[in-house]
Amino acid sequence: EQKETHVLVEKDYITSIYKHRLQHSHKGNYGHALLIAGCYGKMGAAILASKGCLKAGVGLLTVHVPHWGYNIIQSSVPEAMASIDRSEMIFTEFPELNGFNAIAIGPGLNKKKNSVVAFENMLSKIEHHSLVVDADGLNILSENKHLLNKLPQQTILTPHPKEFERLAGSWKNDMHRLKILKDFCQQYQVITVLKGAYTVTCMPDGRCYFNTTGNPGMATAGSGDVLTGIILALLAQNYPPDKAATLAVYLHGKAGDKALLQESKESLIASDIIRNLGNAFK
Ligand code: AMP
Ligand code: MG
Repeated sequence: EQKETHVLVEKDYITSIYKHRLQHSHKGNYGHALLIAGCYGKMGAAILASKGCLKAGVGLLTVHVPHWGYNIIQSSVPEAMASIDRSEMIFTEFPELNGFNAIAIGPGLNKKKNSVVAFENMLSKIEHHSLVVDADGLNILSENKHLLNKLPQQTILTPHPKEFERLAGSWKNDMHRLKILKDFCQQYQVITVLKGAYTVTCMPDGRCYFNTTGNPGMATAGSGDVLTGIILALLAQNYPPDKAATLAVYLHGKAGDKALLQESKESLIASDIIRNLGNAFK
């Protein structure tokens, strides 16, 4: 049964779910995330998601990239480790999942047959891992709908409206869209972050969280890739998936708002969101 709970996500709620770091902690306490991202011409998405993840506090990050992306990711994100796919341009074999506690797949990926097969294989191996699916990961799901039934419960999907339409069909108006969103989350027992101004995060039981941060400056290339990285980092730090999603969306928007202290809504780019994550956390 669906709950009619609608929550406006504001500072009080955020401070109630935020976890402070313990003085005697070490990187092992903050998780090891795996990001599967990037393809020929879209390595930037992998870089932006990696940086978003690192700047949101992950302990360790491994990025799985096609083998020619090795130098690119290692030199632009020295904090991350790289896992190299044997293939030239497409993903054929994702790494062993032991050792990771959270996984993100999709930014700058591709939808080639081999990636679909590798994605399906990976889904069958997932045990205790938290999962976030974005961008071409979502498009793979739309084109192979049977995979939706194989997603672990509480998987977080982060579509923008076009990606959500491909996943769940079109809507007549905003209320209808909310209904489709709730039905979709209940049917597949997933958490869906429907992005835009006032991003809505819907839970499998129908609870909807409306974000209050962010601005139209964030309507820019790579903005969503940064969000995927932040969600991944919070999952790796053991935030429960519903809280990881709402907190990440809030922080992402807040970082975009902080960026406007130096930038205009026109000049703001995804890297500015990353650079302002520290201010957002503060
Ligand atoms: P993507 O389309 O995947 O790059 O994601 C765009 C990101 O920017 C999402 O997190 C959106 O919520 C955010 N965004 C886009 N437009 C706006 C807007 N007008 N106001 C606030 N956030 C926005
Ligand atoms: Mg996107």
